[in-house]
Amino acid sequence: MSFESLGLRTELLRAASEKGYRTPTPIQSQAIPPILDGRDLMGGAQTGTGKTAGFTLPLLQRLMSSKPEKGRRAIRALVLTPTRELAAQVTESVRVYGKYLPLRSAAVFGGVSINPQIKKLRDGVDILVATPGRLLDHVSQTTIDLSRVEILVLDEADRMLDMGFIHDIRKVMKLLPKKKQTLLFSATFSNDIKRLADNLLHKPDLIEVAQRNTAAERVTQVVHPVDSKKKRKLLSLLIGSGNWKQVLVFARTKRNCDRLALALIKDGLNAAAIHGGKSQGARTKALANFKSGNVRILVATDIAARGLDISQLPHVVNYELPHVPEDYIHRIGRTGRAGHEGEAVSLVCIDEAKLLKDIERLIKIEIPKVIIENFEPDPTIKAQPITMGRNQQRLGVKNSSRNKQSSSRKKQRPSPSSPYKGRSNNQGRTGNRSRQHSSHA
Ligand code: AMP
Repeated sequence: MSFESLGLRTELLRAASEKGYRTPTPIQSQAIPPILDGRDLMGGAQTGTGKTAGFTLPLLQRLMSSKPEKGRRAIRALVLTPTRELAAQVTESVRVYGKYLPLRSAAVFGGVSINPQIKKLRDGVDILVATPGRLLDHVSQTTIDLSRVEILVLDEADRMLDMGFIHDIRKVMKLLPKKKQTLLFSATFSNDIKRLADNLLHKPDLIEVAQRNTAAERVTQVVHPVDSKKKRKLLSLLIGSGNWKQVLVFARTKRNCDRLALALIKDGLNAAAIHGGKSQGARTKALANFKSGNVRILVATDIAARGLDISQLPHVVNYELPHVPEDYIHRIGRTGRAGHEGEAVSLVCIDEAKLLKDIERLIKIEIPKVIIENFEPDPTIKAQPITMGRNQQRLGVKNSSRNKQSSSRKKQRPSPSSPYKGRSNNQGRTGNRSRQHSSHA
């Protein structure tokens, strides 16, 4: 299958070829024909599958082949994304793939001044990429007209629902024409997503390229059981001894991100933190430095990392496991992108035993556990509940500060249901690491 055989126009073929794309990825070969035919689409695609080009290329072609209404330039395609980073990234894709077409695009997202966005909208835009909140800010300031949208894309719809955007999405829908083409992409299909799709899509084509809720195929996964207080040292050791050049590290809260980045810097490692509490400028700068190799370790929360496209990212570390098991799939999807090998390492303390079980149940894989010498978990430490800062109520976690708890940790016999049981197995795809370390268990 080639891009030519999908019926794309020469300007788009040229742009794709300049980007170095030789053959369409599976999502592209399945999504492009129905989108070109004007059909609604529900696409199940993990991150890193090439889904952005999968909808952007045919979207650009449709806009070129349908005649706009006479009069002023109007927004004819709207792409909604959950995060600023993803919005910026999709906008960049639209710009790159559409570089030989006379279409104009813009992004509107929060965290930056609204005025340049207003100016750009006033100058006329064909394709708008937006996060729901800032889009509604523009609506309330009447700086935007969505009444002529022909194509709507909901990108990473599952994450938009996770982030509580459902009401904003409903508000936006009311401002769009009834007759339009709608494309919905989601990495996972919860009942909420299916309900949203039932409401928004008309007889959609369903395509799914990776098996539902399975972890990215090419990613080697490993768990290192370790006590919570030793995680930071172990992380520095892994990065240093493995000579990892580019590592994305996930922490659960903004505070933990900042603390970890500072501690790593103290260890002499070049690190930066990226999370929703940082200004857009700081986030963009940290990401640019990470991409260029000036920053070796980027410590991120799930939300901030969503949508980051860093090509050939070799290492992802779950410094703390996510509360929502699906986030594990999103996290490890940051590595092994577009056919490159990747490694996802999780540092798991006894408190996270249940989170790990939930993840393994979801991905239907028992992740190999490898204990590292000198970092053996203390079997007498009792599991404590995990707190999530300000979100703890929402997550139903009742206990207070983790620090308070860890200082009063009681020692006791290991529980028979301990996730590690001192085990160190090298089954599955642990690669070199397991061979290197399993003998230390
Ligand atoms: P996405 O899933 O859209 O975030 O894309 C993941 C990565 O795959 C991006 O870095 C794209 O530039 C790259 N990519 C997209 N389509 C292709 C293709 N046909 N061939 C090679 N790489 C691609």
